[in-house]
Amino acid sequence: MTHLSTLSKHAASLLGITLSDEQIGKFKRLTELLLSWNERMNLTAITEPAEIAIKHYLDALTLAQAVPQFDDLRLIDVGTGAGFPGLPLAIVFPRLQVALMDSTAKKLRFIDDVAQSLGLENITSLHSRAEDAGQSKRHREAYDIVVARAVARMPVLAEYTLPLCKVGGQAVAMKGMSAFEETAAAAKAITALGGELFGIEEVMLPTLDNPRYLIVIDKIKPTPRRYPRKAGMPSRQPIV
Ligand code: SAM
Repeated sequence: MTHLSTLSKHAASLLGITLSDEQIGKFKRLTELLLSWNERMNLTAITEPAEIAIKHYLDALTLAQAVPQFDDLRLIDVGTGAGFPGLPLAIVFPRLQVALMDSTAKKLRFIDDVAQSLGLENITSLHSRAEDAGQSKRHREAYDIVVARAVARMPVLAEYTLPLCKVGGQAVAMKGMSAFEETAAAAKAITALGGELFGIEEVMLPTLDNPRYLIVIDKIKPTPRRYPRKAGMPSRQPIV
């Protein structure tokens, strides 16, 4: 399994994460399931195991660059799709409780299959739109860390993520080259939702030319009751 030994090597050298043989075995099984489900449903455009290891697994683990430790925290992955970044985090940090949320039920069937096949006891799948979860008793301000990759532009994403975050917790958005422009555009939304920009962390992945960025937002105040607005509103009329 060359691509997984490469993952293991980069996780150690870039992030100081040591993967056990058991965890490497789980990543191997995850790749098998992802490729097999991908024949029946569109889960990922990336189908080379070596590329999956870097662009899905290692990319997810770079969140460790922004979050000093995950043990005993509750994390929600908003718009998780095929489970990224949440699944790799759940594999590597078994004491992290991971909720994987998506508005598309069929993607969650894949995640439930992965959870069972890999014996992951620290994940739950959640079929919901972020706007509905953000107004529900169970999920509003219930998470220490809220993460999202490739879901929406930052002014919209702030309204999807910050209502789910506890005061004292953090929302982290994974972005490409548009990170700085999007963060500037979201300044008003971040403040209105009870957040404060902590910083933008640059991440370099092996084999990729362009850097990636983690936009880290501290939740400093409770989100006003009126946010998130009803489903569809944040994307139709972003707070600007
Ligand atoms: N995060 C994954 C990744 O990076 O591979 C999936 C990205 S995919 C492009 C975006 C996902 O966000 C889709 O699965 C979509 O169903 C979900 N999504 C979009 N808007 C959402 C919302 N308001 N609430 C929950 N999920 C949402």
